[in-house]
Amino acid sequence: MSKIIVAIDGFSSCGKSTLAKALSVHMGYVYVDSGAMYRAVTYYCLQKKLISAAGKFDEKKVVNTLKKIKLSFKYNPYAKSSDTYLNGDNIEKEIRQMKVSNHVSKIAMIKEVRDRVVDIQRTMGKEKGIVMDGRDIGTNVFPGAELKIFMTADIDIRVQRRLDELNSRGEHVTYEEVKINLMKRDYDDTHRKESPLSKAKDAVVLDNSDLNREQQLEYIERLIKDLLLTKDTLSI
Ligand code: C5P
Repeated sequence: MSKIIVAIDGFSSCGKSTLAKALSVHMGYVYVDSGAMYRAVTYYCLQKKLISAAGKFDEKKVVNTLKKIKLSFKYNPYAKSSDTYLNGDNIEKEIRQMKVSNHVSKIAMIKEVRDRVVDIQRTMGKEKGIVMDGRDIGTNVFPGAELKIFMTADIDIRVQRRLDELNSRGEHVTYEEVKINLMKRDYDDTHRKESPLSKAKDAVVLDNSDLNREQQLEYIERLIKDLLLTKDTLSI
């Protein structure tokens, strides 16, 4: 059967990566978490003290530092997805920390950062057979993706999911802190100049506020089955 690209975009903590990962396993596709790349750049800038405690940074210095950053990904069979490596070090855990979440959307606004990261993403999708989640995958990275999903969910449900995830990793933050972070990121992501988060015209909307993982997966699997059947029939 022909391979396709599945692009999943949406607001922060909507469960995009959970769905994308499950889909990739189901289809035998590669899963790429595009947000991890922006997080890795942010983490590097924090390590190099390029971002102040108040969140201020010199854009030129951030852009200049890009040449010192080498991102790579290695499949982790336990997680059934790839871990992110920065200059050879596994930083998968570190990039999920709240201190990275608090600055990542501002760093992701920088055009040169986006150009660099999008280049890597497009290379990864060359052979298709990929499920990628993020904010601009269906609109900018792969505008020709065969299946585009735009995910959303009630803000309080998203906050609770994110809080549970952080707690399970041993990071203790408050409900309010998480809510403020998600709202700020949603605002930054939808209002930035470079590839803002928006629904691609041909994306299917999935509001998963009241859907469990199995229901979401079932729904998308059905869409994919129909799509692949149509695609293969058309290409005969
Ligand atoms: O998906 P995740 O929440 O890990 O992404 C972290 C941040 O990276 C987002 O809040 C957003 O600012 C940025 N991002 C982006 N474009 C993408 C993926 C993530 O701007 N395709």
